[in-house]
Amino acid sequence: MIPILPLKDSHGRAIRDLRISITDRCNFRCFYCMPAEAMEWQPKAEILSYEEIITFTEILVGLGITKLRVTGGEPMVRRDVETLIERLAKIDGVEDLAMTTNAHFLRGRAQALKAAGLERITISLDSLDHDRFSLLTGRNELDRVLDGIDAALEAGLDPIKINCVIMRGINDDQAVNFAAFAREKGVAVRFIEFMPLDNGKVWRREMVVPGEELRGRIDAVYPLQRVKSENLSETARRWRFADDAPGEIGFINPVSQPFCGHCSRIRLTADGMIRTCLFSTVEHNIKRLLRRGASRDDLADFIIATVEKKEDRHHINDPEFVQPLRTMSCIGG
Ligand code: SAM
Repeated sequence: MIPILPLKDSHGRAIRDLRISITDRCNFRCFYCMPAEAMEWQPKAEILSYEEIITFTEILVGLGITKLRVTGGEPMVRRDVETLIERLAKIDGVEDLAMTTNAHFLRGRAQALKAAGLERITISLDSLDHDRFSLLTGRNELDRVLDGIDAALEAGLDPIKINCVIMRGINDDQAVNFAAFAREKGVAVRFIEFMPLDNGKVWRREMVVPGEELRGRIDAVYPLQRVKSENLSETARRWRFADDAPGEIGFINPVSQPFCGHCSRIRLTADGMIRTCLFSTVEHNIKRLLRRGASRDDLADFIIATVEKKEDRHHINDPEFVQPLRTMSCIGG
C-alpha cells in the first residue's frame, strides 16, 4: 500500500502523535490508576525491546508522526531509558520528544535525559500536601518529587508541565495551591478531569470536577487570561496569569468538553499493542508481526489499516459506555 502522508484515519484526522509506553511497572500506587494489592506485571518477554520500539517508531515517523511521548507505567523504572531517548531523538522527522514521569528518579538523571535529546517533560503530581500525597500515591515521597521538579528545572528541560488529576472531595481543594505553585516555579500546571480508566473501579461521575469549575476558583484568586492556540489537536485549554506572573494553567477536560474531533494520537502499549483511543476496547497486535520478522512494508500496511479503524470519539458520556479492561498504567498515559 502506498500511504498518503500524513497518516489519516477514516474520519479525516491526521495522526501526528505517538505515545509509547515502555513498561507497565510503576513505583507508585496512585489509587485511581493501579490497585494497591499486588499487581500482575507482564512477563519481561512480553515487553517490547528498545530495538522493537525503535523499528515501530521509525515506521510511524516515516508515515508522518512528528511528536513522541515516552510514558508507562513509570518510564524511569525501565533500565537505561536515556539510551532509548537518545535513539528516538535521532530519528529523522521527530520534531517533538517528551516524557511523562512521576519525577521520583529525576534528581541525578534529568541532565542525562536532556543531554540524550529530551526536550520537555511532563510530571504528574496530584497534591502539594504531604498526607494527601501519601494517600493518593501510596508512597510518602512528596519531597523527592518536588526535588525532582527542581532537578528538571535546573537541567533546563523546557517547558515543564505538571499534570494534576483532580477528584472531587479528594484533592479539588488544592487547585489554588497549584496555581500558586505554577507562579512560583514558572511551570505549566494542567488539571486533568478524572477518567474512568482506574483499576479499582472507583470512578464516579460525581468525582469529576469540570475544568471550568476549577478555572472559576483560580480566577477568583489569580485572574486568568486565555492563551490562544493555533494547534487544534492540543488537549489543554491554556490560561496565563493576568498580572504577568510566570507559569501557566491548563485544563484538560476529556469528560466535560471532549476533544476527540481533533485527536491526533495513537498509542503503543509496553507489550506491543497499538491502541487507537484511550478508551478502545480492542487492541492491535503489532508485536506478533515484529517478532515474526515482518518486513517494514508489511508493518506499515498493518499500521495504516489499524489507524483507519480509529474510533470517532469516546463514549464516556453515553449510557452504553464500557470501561476498557486495561488501566492508564498499562495503556500509557
Ligand atoms: N508514571 C508516569 C507518571 O506518573 O506520570 C506516567 C504514566 S501515568 C499512567 C500518566 C498519567 O496518567 C498521569 O498523569 C496520571 O495521573 C494519569 N492518569 C492515570 N489514571 C488516570 C485516570 N483514571 N484519569 C485521569 N488521568 C489518569
